[in-house]
Amino acid sequence: MDCIVQKFGGTSVATLERIRRVAELIATSYRMQPVTVVVSAMAGVTNRFVEYAHDLGSAEGDAEYDSVVSSGELVTAGLLSITLKNMGLKSRSYAGWQIPIETSCRYGSAVIQSVNPNNLVKDLKSGIIPVVCGFQGISPENRVTTLGRGGSDLTAVAISDALKADLCEIYSDVDGVYTVDPNLYPQARCIDKIHYNEMKEMAALGAKVLQEQSVDYAMKKNVRIRVASSFVEHEGTIICSDIPEKKFSGLAVTQNLSQFKIRHTLKSHLSIIKLLEQHFIRCEIIKTLDGKFSLLIDRQKVPLMKSLLSKENHILDIKQEMVRKNFSRISVIGSNFNQDDHEKIISDLNRSKIEVFYCSIRKNGLNLIVLTESLLKSIDVLHKSCGLGK
Ligand code: ASP
Ligand code: MG
Repeated sequence: MDCIVQKFGGTSVATLERIRRVAELIATSYRMQPVTVVVSAMAGVTNRFVEYAHDLGSAEGDAEYDSVVSSGELVTAGLLSITLKNMGLKSRSYAGWQIPIETSCRYGSAVIQSVNPNNLVKDLKSGIIPVVCGFQGISPENRVTTLGRGGSDLTAVAISDALKADLCEIYSDVDGVYTVDPNLYPQARCIDKIHYNEMKEMAALGAKVLQEQSVDYAMKKNVRIRVASSFVEHEGTIICSDIPEKKFSGLAVTQNLSQFKIRHTLKSHLSIIKLLEQHFIRCEIIKTLDGKFSLLIDRQKVPLMKSLLSKENHILDIKQEMVRKNFSRISVIGSNFNQDDHEKIISDLNRSKIEVFYCSIRKNGLNLIVLTESLLKSIDVLHKSCGLGK
């Protein structure tokens, strides 16, 4: 259908004033073509609900957890619809189940199974602007589900696909996808067009612009995405498939990695990965110079990981020991890397006296583990070494 989808993240709808601004932006777009809106919870709200649920002993996997943490979106959708109506436009809000967006029963990170576009199409044809709660779905057990943190991006992409919309616009407080987080490196460059594959890697490896699953979904369904800011006018970044993949497209950074040394057999090694995956804990397994294995995981996930591993200790035979807390991972993102590219990167880092603790080769790039104290210097060297400034 000739229409667009516009999604607004938490910071774009953080206050009533910002909701009014967003409504103006929607009204301007609506003058050109029908718009379906997807919203996140107001900034900070979901985090607070997650904390409440955790404090009462609930967590991802529990259906009640989803009832609680999904509720912030309901408030934003209602408030934005009210604002649009006050401006003389026609609008209505939708919870995920009212679309419906059908998902699996994996509470906390449900998988979308189908999106019925009929209600939305009817609205769009009658000049109504639907405002859909992001992040929400409904399970076969007739319970509210959530699509994983940052899941409103996925809602926007899935709705764009269901409507066969011309474009899925994702608005937040950043004006596009940068070669590296501009908060860490002000010389970072805004990328005008990036391939799904590269964007997916960036999202998976730490760039916070888009939820990883949303990029995956967009790639499979060929949904064109534009990332832009709701605060400043700027072309932003287009994510699509009709551009050649570049050798180097950017750097993704994950800070605050904690290291654990592990003594275990190969069997338990695999069990650990499986266990952590089941609880959505991403880890990097590295082999240190002394021949031992270490796990690097996000510092915030350390308490959860410790409790998981202590429960499973009899099966897994693990002696875990926290070693250091101050690692960061820089991932070079690109395509068609070869041995010469790897060598050049490593030698440029060596020349700048940056100690690389571990380097792993991915299909489309390289992961480098450095001490966080040398992170900024490493970014500078890598950004130049990969020619990302041009
Ligand atoms: N409000 C949810 C979260 O904070 C979903 C989203 O914002 O995309 O994760
Ligand atoms: Mg987000």
